[in-house]
Amino acid sequence: MFKTQVLSIDQQSLEIAKKYIADGEVVAFPTETVYGLGANAFDETAVKKIFVAKGRPSDNPLIVHVADKQQVYSIASEVTADALKVMDCLMPGPITMVLKKQSTIPHCVTGGLDTVAIRMPSSKQAQQFLSAVKYPICAPSANTSSRPSPTSWQHVAEDMDGKVPLILKGDDCQVGIESTVLDLTRDVPLILRPGMVTKSEIEAVLGKEVFFPDAIDKSMNSPGIRYKHYAPACETFLNTDGNLQKITEFLNENKNAGLVALEKYKNLAQKFFSLGNDAQSGAHNIFSALRDAEKVCDKLLIVWDLTGEDADGVFNRVIKSCGGKII
Ligand code: AMP
Ligand code: MG
Repeated sequence: MFKTQVLSIDQQSLEIAKKYIADGEVVAFPTETVYGLGANAFDETAVKKIFVAKGRPSDNPLIVHVADKQQVYSIASEVTADALKVMDCLMPGPITMVLKKQSTIPHCVTGGLDTVAIRMPSSKQAQQFLSAVKYPICAPSANTSSRPSPTSWQHVAEDMDGKVPLILKGDDCQVGIESTVLDLTRDVPLILRPGMVTKSEIEAVLGKEVFFPDAIDKSMNSPGIRYKHYAPACETFLNTDGNLQKITEFLNENKNAGLVALEKYKNLAQKFFSLGNDAQSGAHNIFSALRDAEKVCDKLLIVWDLTGEDADGVFNRVIKSCGGKII
């Protein structure tokens, strides 16, 4: 048990963060996607503390965050031509690439795989932290495992108070959902997790087709939806067609239910949590909406009826939030 310090980012707090990381401790920090829970990627004992703080299954690998492109070479054993293109055109930014790993990266970082996920955040505050601590930092989202990801320092404090020595207090996360994960170790590049960097943007950069196995997740009974993930404390349902009759019936039958949806549905529920007007605002708002809603609702309906590839990232999160329960 720690007495957790929550400090704004300045020279003094960055010095404290640097010392904790050098001593093998875990520090929470802001990025443009979500807040991360970071440790020195080369320090096995420190990395294991992340899994304990989150209650994360040990076979779920972590993303290694770097301050500059040079650090990529200390983590990946093969920086391919495609990786160079991604680094030149899409980094820093909300994209993660999976490459063959260096043997110095501990197994606990990669869940025993011989590949490693690497990301360079664009958020200035994340860059300040990564530059100050000097080491590549492996970090998952700074939430208790299975809970909605944290997009503000208050969300981190809700889940991590007493579990880590330091939370760096930065801005709310601008993007709001985790990075696009792109596997570059196969013949055809593969999107393992959709985010706000889309398939078309990646294809334009690589000059070739990229595979995104989305069809399986678009149906309600996807066998892929096995793990509880991003789940609020209250029972949650999803609607993907915006059918007003179904939505109002649900809300009439469940008097204390909340509605998380685009602004245009505002008038349908008293307990309404807005996702704004488009895919970008939906991503920005989704996790804070889920965390706000769970505090005052005993059931929740998410309506996410936007289509198109920039809506895929939010769809991927909300289908998991509701455990595949679609109305
Ligand atoms: P999180 O830390 O919760 O944002 O999740 C990290 C994501 O990156 C998960 O979806 C992991 O499965 C994925 N990931 C991390 N490392 C690898 C890797 N070496 N190969 C494939 N996926 C990875
Ligand atoms: Mg996570």
